[in-house]
Order: sequence, then C-alpha cells, then structure tokens
Amino acid sequence: MRPGKIVCIGQNYHAHIKELKSEVPTEPVIFLKPSSALIANGEQIVLPPDIGRVDYEGELAIIIGRRTKHVASNEALRYVEAAAVFNDVTARDVQSKARKSGLPWSLAKGMDTFAPMSQPRPVGDIPDLGALTVRTRLNGELRQDGRTADMIFPVEELIAYISKFMVLEPGDVIATGTPEGVGPIKGGDLVEIEIEGVGKLTNKVKG
Ligand code: MG
Repeated sequence: MRPGKIVCIGQNYHAHIKELKSEVPTEPVIFLKPSSALIANGEQIVLPPDIGRVDYEGELAIIIGRRTKHVASNEALRYVEAAAVFNDVTARDVQSKARKSGLPWSLAKGMDTFAPMSQPRPVGDIPDLGALTVRTRLNGELRQDGRTADMIFPVEELIAYISKFMVLEPGDVIATGTPEGVGPIKGGDLVEIEIEGVGKLTNKVKG
C-alpha cells in the first residue's frame, strides 16, 4: 500500500548545506514528495527529456507505525515502525530556477520515479538510527559517505517538529535529508545506496 505522504527534510547535514551554498536552518526544512513518485528497489529512474541536471540524494527514510500528533522528541521513536533506504531524486536545474525566483520546488522533487525506496526493515532490528552510515555509489564509485550522527536535526526531533503541525499516519515516510556528495545522473547510470543495518537500494537510470 502506498504511504499517504512522503515528508522530506532539506538541508539536514552541514557539509551538504555548504555544497549547495545554503544557510544552516534554525528549524527543519520541510517539503513533500507525492507518493506517486515511489519506485521499488530494482526499478528504473526515468529522466524526462530536456530536464537538465538531475541528482541522486541518498537518505535514511523512516516509516511511521501509528498516528503521531504532538509527540515529544523523547517519545518520538516509539512511533517509528521501520526504516528504509531512500533516494530523494531531484531535478536540480528545475529546483535552482524555482529557488532563485522564490517559487515552490515541488515539481523538481515530485516527478514520476523520483522516489526510489528499499524494502523497509523493522526498527526493532536496527540498534540506533543515529549511528548509521549512508553510502551512495554511482556506477560503482563511492560518492556519498555520510553518518546519520551528523544530522542537524536527528530523527526524533524531526518527528516531534513535523507532528506539531502535520499529523503523521501509519505508513507515512519521512526522508531525513542527504549528506554531502550529491551529484548528477544520466541515462545508463547505476545508483546504489547502502545503509548498513537497514538495506540497499539499487536503481538504473533511463535517460
Ligand atoms: Mg533530499
């Protein structure tokens, strides 16, 4: 069953903020991706024609297990059912143009196939969501090697923050932001994202 929503977090790692030449946020940066963009491990990321630069963004995703509204951060992890490996595929040129004009970037993030996600792993099988490595390989070459310990807002704070404003329902996904090392993909590329203890996500790119 498709999640009701995918809540994505932007700019949640210092080094990635630097590479995007952005400011460090004082509150989590929230945007949504439509669940129609979801694809599974092994499916193809399809690039629309003439779309300009499109980037991979390897991320830890968490899946909500029960209705979450106004939870404190020290209670928040009880509402998590599972974790998964996520690729927040981004049409970077479309996003940059929108940002420059102060316009929403939904289109840049929400295109079909722009939300690859692995099979979820029950959170009980993962010792610590704050001590994972997120590694992205493009055509076998290591491009991202981040640690969830470096998140500006850790998972429990993200859940507490989002649930103040937006109810989280069973199956909803939170993509927790990408570490540094994002880069462009093109037709024929192979993107592999691995979070040790959570899983692996492999998708080919169709240009
Ligand atoms: Mg992202």
